[in-house]
Amino acid sequence: MDTTALLKSVPTGLWIGGEERTTSSTFNVLHPSDDKVIATVSDAGAEDAVAALDAACAVQAEWAATAPRKRGEILRSVFEAITEQADDIAALMTLEMGKVFAESKGEVTYGGEFFRWFAEEAVRIAGRYTPSPAGTGRIIVTKQAVGPCYAITPWNFPLAMGTRKMGPAFAAGCTMIVKPAQETPLTMLYLAKLMDEAGLPKGVLSVLPTSSPGPVTEALIDDGRLRKLTFTGSTGVGKSLVKQSADKLLRTSMELGGNAPFVVFDDADIDAAVDGAILAKMRNGGEACTAANRFHVANSVREEFTEKLVKRMSEFTLGKGLDESATLGPLINSKQLSKVTELVSDAVSRGATVAVGGVAPGGPGNFYPATVLADVPADARILKEEVFGPVAPITGFDTEEEGIAAANDTEYGLAAYIYTRSLDRALRVAEGIESGMVGVNRGVISDAAAPFGGIKESGFGREGGTEGIEEYLDTKYIALTR
Ligand code: NAP
Repeated sequence: MDTTALLKSVPTGLWIGGEERTTSSTFNVLHPSDDKVIATVSDAGAEDAVAALDAACAVQAEWAATAPRKRGEILRSVFEAITEQADDIAALMTLEMGKVFAESKGEVTYGGEFFRWFAEEAVRIAGRYTPSPAGTGRIIVTKQAVGPCYAITPWNFPLAMGTRKMGPAFAAGCTMIVKPAQETPLTMLYLAKLMDEAGLPKGVLSVLPTSSPGPVTEALIDDGRLRKLTFTGSTGVGKSLVKQSADKLLRTSMELGGNAPFVVFDDADIDAAVDGAILAKMRNGGEACTAANRFHVANSVREEFTEKLVKRMSEFTLGKGLDESATLGPLINSKQLSKVTELVSDAVSRGATVAVGGVAPGGPGNFYPATVLADVPADARILKEEVFGPVAPITGFDTEEEGIAAANDTEYGLAAYIYTRSLDRALRVAEGIESGMVGVNRGVISDAAAPFGGIKESGFGREGGTEGIEEYLDTKYIALTR
């Protein structure tokens, strides 16, 4: 693949009102395999944010009034364009984010699917018409687009974390300004151009790469014309955005951090559990909010599970994301590498043993090997904090109640995984686990057709499924006398 030509095809200015706008200030985008500069992009400030909101407001009413079928057809065209350009989009993600090409291809399939799914949902926005109980009136309930929205997305899924918001917003008739993460603005800029070519009216989408997320966000949140903020990222930043949004009582959706437990019961199919563990831990190189962060394994099967997991984890080959032999790419940056190293050292200092991996190779890039930690004590930080890397800490439990209690011992509540052959136990435990999503005997749960989201400090709101579009619709009641 000619990556130089690919990078040249990406807009590097801000994307406002369907056009590229360059600014005098810029920032660099690095390749995490060697920290070399791969692009230099325009750097939005507060005044650019207001210009993007001007563009959104100028077309908001017309877009909301566009026939749902037409909106759906545009989204379907975007899905098809993404599918056709899958290799280019995937390579771009690997260049700016580091994950291996196969992972990026998987994200293109997943991320593109939100346009196909919401193309179909655009024409199913329902209301109701009922007689009032007194019989003298009629109650009409209808749904209307919320209005201009602002989306802030993280670096770990440069495409899908945006499309999960754009698909339902555009299907509902909302306009959107997207602020991609500083590390990974290229995929979203490429997508903006692709959507323009696929027929999305100018102004419906703007993209603001910036090295000043605070001032850009403040300008939008404080402007009375914005109606909604949707955020995916860390719990700390999410909390401060909810506080900032309170003054204007903005509608908010918060997809925040996780600390997913992976619970293996004594009656589980251990080979299936190991297959699932590899997917739940190693998808996206471990840099996923749904990633299994800690493995709670029944003591009677712990040794067998650990041995089999160690064997599979030792088969990962570190390498640059576009190298065909690589099955595990680098972490996003040196800060993340330090965090993973620190959490592993902390666990070892408290008595955990490194069963495989555990030593960063050093040299250029932010590489860390697939790692299994055995006998991890309950006070290890890695069981409490999101590691966001390829490290699987294993700890044991005896009874089902202990397994559930260990799973719930966290302020987060995004995803959880359980393995058992008993349907009765599966349902009992799934209902007892405090999280927005539970995978039963499977290691991947994300699906455009399902409601993705968390409870507790993992946030609120749902993306995907029939629920996803509701986040972008207001309910209006019209009272009629008859
Ligand atoms: P982050 O530091 O919270 O950043 C996320 C986004 O927020 C980035 O675009 C970032 O911009 C922006 N941001 C940071 N400070 C801001 C501020 N003061 N005002 C406005 N925007 C601000 O999170 P991250 O490290 O990129 O992503 C990892 C986190 O995301 C993990 O906790 C992970 O669990 C979570 N996540 C959750 C989901 C989910 O669906 N629940 C999915 C994926 C990831 P800059 O890039 O400029 O810093």
